[in-house]
Amino acid sequence: MTIAHHYTIRPKDLGAHLYEVRLEVAAPDPQGQVFAIPAWIPGSYMIRDYAKHVVAIRAESEGRAVGLHKLDKSRWQAAPTDRAITLVAEIYAHDDSVRGAHLDNTHAYFNGPCVFPAVEGQENVQCLLDIQAPRESCAKGWRVATSMRRQDAEPYAYGTYEASDYAELIDHPVEIGDLAVGEFEVRGIPHAIAIRGRTRVDMARICRDLQTLCERHIELLGAPQDFDRYLFLLYAPGKGYGGLEHRWSSSLVCSRDNLPQRGEEDISDSYRTFLGLVSHEYFHLWNIKRLKPAAFTPYDLASESYTQLMWVFEGITSYYDDLVLARSGLIPAESYLELLGQTITRVIRSGGRHRQSVAESSFDAWTKFYKQDANAPNAIISYYTKGALIAATLDLKLRAESDGELSLDDVMRSCWDRWGKGEEGMPEEGFEAICTELAGDNLGDFFDAALRGTGELPLQAMLATVGVDYHLRQARSRSDKGGKKKSGKRLTPLCLGANLSAAGGKLTFSSVLNGGPAEQAGIAPGDVAVALDGVALTAANYDNRLRSFRRAETLELVFFRGDDLMTTNVTLVDAPKNTCYLSIDEKADLATVARRDDWLNSA
Ligand SMILES: [Zn+2]
Repeated sequence: MTIAHHYTIRPKDLGAHLYEVRLEVAAPDPQGQVFAIPAWIPGSYMIRDYAKHVVAIRAESEGRAVGLHKLDKSRWQAAPTDRAITLVAEIYAHDDSVRGAHLDNTHAYFNGPCVFPAVEGQENVQCLLDIQAPRESCAKGWRVATSMRRQDAEPYAYGTYEASDYAELIDHPVEIGDLAVGEFEVRGIPHAIAIRGRTRVDMARICRDLQTLCERHIELLGAPQDFDRYLFLLYAPGKGYGGLEHRWSSSLVCSRDNLPQRGEEDISDSYRTFLGLVSHEYFHLWNIKRLKPAAFTPYDLASESYTQLMWVFEGITSYYDDLVLARSGLIPAESYLELLGQTITRVIRSGGRHRQSVAESSFDAWTKFYKQDANAPNAIISYYTKGALIAATLDLKLRAESDGELSLDDVMRSCWDRWGKGEEGMPEEGFEAICTELAGDNLGDFFDAALRGTGELPLQAMLATVGVDYHLRQARSRSDKGGKKKSGKRLTPLCLGANLSAAGGKLTFSSVLNGGPAEQAGIAPGDVAVALDGVALTAANYDNRLRSFRRAETLELVFFRGDDLMTTNVTLVDAPKNTCYLSIDEKADLATVARRDDWLNSA
């Protein structure tokens, strides 16, 4: 019988942000055991080189030092020995994101890839984890929240946890601190949410709404066989947004203002944002955590793993996240159409959709989507947003052409049955092959254009099949996200052809759009606006100033490039109609209305 690898983690020094991690290996490779720390974390496709945070590392056996030789940026090899060996590492942790490790006098949070070395060649061995308490008095009363299975620990307590192998060990983030916890069941499966942050919330309502949402998700693909628990870890600071998916849990960050207070009954736009985030990460427990691209089975955490399918795993997830809010009855149809209109707006405003396909965007996630620079709006397209629109177009197309017999739900069920339950992942051509099996071989042109092309999607025509009208208008202000007919502000009919960001009292050109007035005037990313037509240009007066000019008027623009004050002439043009909103066609016939109801309500 193989003896489990025994990990111990202890917040060693809260002030210095140091964890101590010990790893006992009973039967190391007699040639010299190699230990490796992942370069990236599944779900976030960027090389992060977590080993750079190791500040000290040594090996010992029966109390005596064993030589440890560094092989490369992420791996160490111990001197050959046939006895049990213990690796001891100190790891700096001050990355307070869902993909990092963090430790201070308010809490401890870690993801396995940041802190746990793998025992190379023995990744399939069971892992035990002792989670120990910090010694500092400020940590009194802290509780432990993780989806890792308890072996010898009370609920929410320090003690011993277990994982069946290394891949599972690093798939359970751990939060330790002063937590607010809510619990609920979905089809008899225990679910919990643990919230960190100085926040007062209506926990009963959050649990009730999450239960409704999770129930509707399970209806689509069914509870996976190994799905016996689920935990939402939520950090709610003043500002922030993001999430990372795992098989039995997810880490979420949202603003505390996104969470409902006691006495609030309606679903505000900001609470809808939180529910959308929850919905997104929960759908991932099927789509990418169990149903994976073949390129991720198994994960190679030492270097980039390339696939053209990220649009399937993030785009289709982004389509269902909002759609299931509507299907669960948490938001009405109009509210869902507003969210879809905002997604369409984000895609239309990305000029890069004419340069990069979603297949290319997926493949280059590592160097382009995750490393966006000032030229990103001109050069790349998000496989999340365009992927979601491809999913919507495909869903409506399948429904229309099969007279309601077939939908994306059926495609996802088939993908799940074929690749969601075993070890083999979805091959690169797998998604299209399943669609062809279900719908016949007339989808080739659609996929070529939608996935490998850079033209417009036939979404407007597809929305018409369910009695939804598609409208384009000009943005009304810098903060206009689309989705609504009006945003309540007066129209800003002219534009500079640039994205501007306001920080530290400065209005900076964050990107300059190809072919626009700012580019023609010689403005570069990073330039700081000073004055337009002799008057200071600020974040506060920007929209009003632009409303005061006439089309084709040439104006003097003063700006800083570095510390050089510069002047140019800029000619304003009509703001493009790049803002979308959708509306329900009240005159649609009964068959169309039935198709729409089916789309928004089916499971
Ligand atoms: Zn996602």
